[in-house]
Amino acid sequence: MNKVYRYTILAVDDAKDSLLLLEHDLKEAGYQVLTAESGDEALSILQEKNVSLILLDMHMPGISGLTVLQAVKAQKDIEHVPVVMLSASDDETQIVASLEFGADDYVTKPYIPNVLLARIRNSLRLMEKTLQLESLASIDFLTKVNNRGSFQNLVEKVISQAKRDQSIVSMAMFDLDFFKHVNDTYGHEIGDKALISFAQILKDTFRDYDIIGRVGGEEFAVCMPNADIEAVFNACERCRKTLEAHVIYFEYEGKECQLSLSVSVGVTSAQGQVIDFDELLRISDHALYKAKKNGRNQTMIEGEFDLNITTIESKKRQEQEKKNMQEKYAGINYQVGLNNVLGDESLFEDILVMFHQDHGEDHNNIQQAIDENDQRRLKHLVHTIKGVSCSIGAMTLYDLCKELDVAVNENNTSSYQALFTPLKAELIKVTSGIALHLSEKL
Ligand code: GH3
Ligand code: MG
Ligand code: MG
Repeated sequence: MNKVYRYTILAVDDAKDSLLLLEHDLKEAGYQVLTAESGDEALSILQEKNVSLILLDMHMPGISGLTVLQAVKAQKDIEHVPVVMLSASDDETQIVASLEFGADDYVTKPYIPNVLLARIRNSLRLMEKTLQLESLASIDFLTKVNNRGSFQNLVEKVISQAKRDQSIVSMAMFDLDFFKHVNDTYGHEIGDKALISFAQILKDTFRDYDIIGRVGGEEFAVCMPNADIEAVFNACERCRKTLEAHVIYFEYEGKECQLSLSVSVGVTSAQGQVIDFDELLRISDHALYKAKKNGRNQTMIEGEFDLNITTIESKKRQEQEKKNMQEKYAGINYQVGLNNVLGDESLFEDILVMFHQDHGEDHNNIQQAIDENDQRRLKHLVHTIKGVSCSIGAMTLYDLCKELDVAVNENNTSSYQALFTPLKAELIKVTSGIALHLSEKL
């Protein structure tokens, strides 16, 4: 079985015997070793292989060690790789120059193996600490996606690659709908919890090489390399629907509560020379603005795209289906209810029929209980409807029951009638909506 090495060291020296010795000592110490006999060879190995540290001879014919060092430190993807210079002990000015060019350490030749190994360990440790710090500084502490600065850095790399190979880059902006309301109602802590779960949905929806960033308080952006507008639209819609169906459960003021959110999305794509980070962000933000203006909880596209007919048609169909579903049963969020029975539509219909049978007359029963001041019966009725309305996705009814339930618990009899009036109207709306569509089953 192949040994899995933690570190790979590239040893560069034009003298074959020193190189053999180095290779031997490093292998003994448990490192994987690559060797190069010239600066050129070292640079080409660095283009192809992942290297953890470079041991670099200062004096070599052709490209000198100092030139290789400068090339390494000028190249973004390998600049973090520590370089330990190997030099003759009387090389004072060269040693100073190499440190100024960014060498991490130097070891004089002939070297003492234990000293060399100790210095290598130090440099590797330092590199890991630096990488950890850099990652801390680039990750949003709450949601663990890229913060705005690191999002921009990563996207700019994608853009320069796309300019080179004329590929497409797409950008999607997400802004949670009415998020201020969540903070105002339940406080910042629950707001934070909601942000964390939305970030998780983004991580689950998009591909590993898509770049996710938190670009504002409740605003996120996703950059998708090599994804055309249709693929991007579909991915964003998947994400939006997942959030719509997602329920966050939490305790608030000693009670069990739940919360569903929606998000508006703006997307755009660009190809070739025209791509620019600020421009991509600005256009997707404008598409997002249109999504908000058009009623929220939707994805809008902006830019000039060769959208084929099937895309437009499937978009229209999806919108129509959504409208039909939302309006199918008055007062019921179809997606929430269906989700509660794991998407089993026929089971959901059976449950709605049962709801109609069990609670179709409850507006009269509740009124009677209020009139007769029958606290126990009232409590039982309201409590039951509250539980069931939540499972069928009748969220307004649920909220109204909750309010009356609280009043009953506090024995606040003077408020019963005022709280019951809207509840009654909502209950009738829900039961008649069910009757309208499922009359044959009733
Ligand atoms: P819209 O649908 O128009 O986007 O409405 P909105 O309420 O989401 O938009 P608005 O911009 O008015 O409010 C954004 C809110 O996001 C306000 C702020 O309290 C909240 N917010 C921003 N950052 C954080 C955060 O880190 N944690 C929490 N809990 N809330 C945040
Ligand atoms: Mg906002
Ligand atoms: Mg918002």
